[in-house]
Amino acid sequence: ESELKRHIRGIPDFPKPGILFYDISTLLRNAQAWKAAMAAMAERITPHRPQVLAGIESRGFLLAAPLALELGLGFIMLRKPRKLPGATIGLDYALEYGTDRIEMQADAIAPGQRVVLLDDLLATGGTMAAGVALLRQAGAEVPAAAAMLELTFLGGRRRLDVPVETLLTYD
Ligand code: 5GP
Repeated sequence: ESELKRHIRGIPDFPKPGILFYDISTLLRNAQAWKAAMAAMAERITPHRPQVLAGIESRGFLLAAPLALELGLGFIMLRKPRKLPGATIGLDYALEYGTDRIEMQADAIAPGQRVVLLDDLLATGGTMAAGVALLRQAGAEVPAAAAMLELTFLGGRRRLDVPVETLLTYD
């Protein structure tokens, strides 16, 4: 864990004053660190027996896509509004100030397919909870969610009714 943490940097006052932003760019720049992180994530995700992996735009894609390829699974995108072509379904969810929305293609999932959802970081859990709800709306079974980083002091996993697998925790 601490070996991988060396590749994550905390950037103060981003995107606004008072926020310490954990930057995964420095991990992704390092081929060995990225690979080691993906291997550790794969180990945690495999027991949940996913049939498909879903990633949340945009940093979730950077984990979900290579993991899906490695595990021999398909990959689907949960995106910001109006990015996806064809019929979509979406879900609005509350932020600290205002609301946000995520969308996916309506035909992305076969009924009952086991989908594990990935994002780079779990903070308050609002984004992940919305993703799980949207996947279920699409007919998925969601056995677990996963993130590389978890800000434990924000209690995000309490907002989720699925097991959440995380690699590096910050408190
Ligand atoms: P939540 O909805 O759990 O409060 O916030 C999680 C979402 O915000 C994730 O999609 C994540 O990418 C982004 N996020 C919030 N804080 C950070 C941070 O410190 N570092 C990174 N990389 N992403 C963050």
